[in-house]
Amino acid sequence: MKTIALLLALAGGALAAPNADAVSVCQFLHSSYPQYTVWDPSGSNGLETFWNQSYYSTTVQHYWNGVNAKNRPACAFFPANAQQVSAAVQQLNQHANAPYALKSGGHNFNAGFSSTNGGVLISFNENLGSTVQNPDGNTFDVGPGARWGDVYEVTEKSNQVVVGGRLGNIGVAGYTLGGGLSYYSAQYGLACDNVLNFEVVLPNGTVVDANSKSHPDLWWALRGGGNRFGIVTKFTLQGHPLGDNGRVWGGIKFYDASKRQQIFEALSKFTSEYPDAKAAVIPTFDFSGSLVANPALFYFYDGAKPSANAFAGLENIEALMDSTNTTSYSDLASQAGGAKIYGINAAAHVNTFPNMPPQQMSQLLETHWTTYQSMVKNDSSRNLDIQIGTFATQPVSVRIARASQERGGNTLGLDPANGDRIWVENDLIWINPACDNDCPQYLREVGDTIKTSFDSNLKGTKPTNYQSGDVNFVSLNPLFMNDAGYYQDVYDSYGAANKARLENIAKAYDPNGFMFRQGGWNF
Ligand SMILES: Cc1cc2nc3c(=O)[nH]c(=O)nc-3n(C[C@H](O)[C@H](O)[C@H](O)COP(=O)(O)OP(=O)(O)OC[C@H]3O[C@@H](n4cnc5c(N)ncnc54)[C@H](O)[C@@H]3O)c2cc1C
Repeated sequence: MKTIALLLALAGGALAAPNADAVSVCQFLHSSYPQYTVWDPSGSNGLETFWNQSYYSTTVQHYWNGVNAKNRPACAFFPANAQQVSAAVQQLNQHANAPYALKSGGHNFNAGFSSTNGGVLISFNENLGSTVQNPDGNTFDVGPGARWGDVYEVTEKSNQVVVGGRLGNIGVAGYTLGGGLSYYSAQYGLACDNVLNFEVVLPNGTVVDANSKSHPDLWWALRGGGNRFGIVTKFTLQGHPLGDNGRVWGGIKFYDASKRQQIFEALSKFTSEYPDAKAAVIPTFDFSGSLVANPALFYFYDGAKPSANAFAGLENIEALMDSTNTTSYSDLASQAGGAKIYGINAAAHVNTFPNMPPQQMSQLLETHWTTYQSMVKNDSSRNLDIQIGTFATQPVSVRIARASQERGGNTLGLDPANGDRIWVENDLIWINPACDNDCPQYLREVGDTIKTSFDSNLKGTKPTNYQSGDVNFVSLNPLFMNDAGYYQDVYDSYGAANKARLENIAKAYDPNGFMFRQGGWNF
């Protein structure tokens, strides 16, 4: 038996040193829920769950940021309902030194936010990932481990959609708790604004419903507040009509790099005028090795054909390649493979900037472009393994803030009076593990360099559609949790009042800091 265990250990990678408290929790879970618990196959208990080891291996490997895939939890637990999650929470409370992690789709960019080395991994995709249409016909109960592509396959059967991820493989729980920017946000707000009810396992193990009437403080905190308030075991999401009888329009257009100034200016105009809330766009600018960088814009319209001028002129810029067509929403969500890619390593860093008039916007984004060109593409002064660097300039029109407020508001502090912003998501992808520390650090330097340039040259420029608010604060905040680096002050960026309210809610529900035993941002 020992020989087999050793062989398994070698096949599985380095022998992990599990945390003793975590082992105790795993023992409880294995004896209570043998079919839902799998020990690390390379650990000393591995043989007990040898026949289910592929569940462990799959969940441990399937992370967008491959740095997480090096972590080996003492065991993986695949709960099938809230009561099982509650039992796990109660055990974790009895073993205060046991680390744990919560995994939905595994797409968070930061190492250790949904993975644990030696702790207990609670993975939701396997047994808590279903989508069920409710008897009312236009709300859906969605498990925390669902991926958006699977959700849309259910909702579009009745020509409906829920406000969710733009790529199909992203997980529902992390995405929604971090806010969730969608093609539908100008119409209906962020994904979190469209959660009618969260079924939540509180840090003490109690299962509650959080909605506008029951635990409304918790309901608000979960709308963009992340993983610090409880473990969500079910999201009840509002359904909306999908396109023209389920048909929508969209796709990617690639442009020659020489068109970028035109794109920057048209983007400013689109964001400020936003003629049609059914239109959405994600402009991305990629730099990879010695390849020429081409802007690539993801277009979306919630109908079979965009209305005239829906993109305020952006759509008239001549493209090199154009894949836009009338299609289904699931089809669009599977663009770029739906982001079902494993085996890469990734980091992100977000900057918020004001959407400014075309000339200033073009100045800012040209700085972005040249900084990426010089730092990401050409930097040979450091031993970095940069495969792809990207920045995506995501419009945050006042329409989004208005739609959020109409649905009860959220924690981010988006106020339509503050004007239009853009969330610039900066990404790096690398392969060589030698860059696991240096690449995220380097991306941070790139993001900070661009922010410094804004501060020197454009600080004080009011966002378009600005009416009130501290210009210097509202122009650069809130930072979008879903695109943020682990070192960024996400909660500070929500504004002092919202941060204080979140802190008070966390203290009320979690006096012992249970939720802070896992990765995530801190107050
Ligand atoms: C290719 C790509 C495309 C993306 N596109 C978008 C986009 O269009 N819009 C957008 O807003 N964001 C987008 N993101 C960002 C994405 O929303 C975040 O990375 C998000 O954290 C991913 O959620 P997940 O569930 O897949 O992640 P996971 O890594 O599984 O989890 C993320 C966080 O959620 C917590 N968590 C997991 N399950 C639970 C639970 N049941 N209860 C409480 N906390 C839980 C974890 O503790 C962890 O901190 C994209 C990311 C990638 C890599």
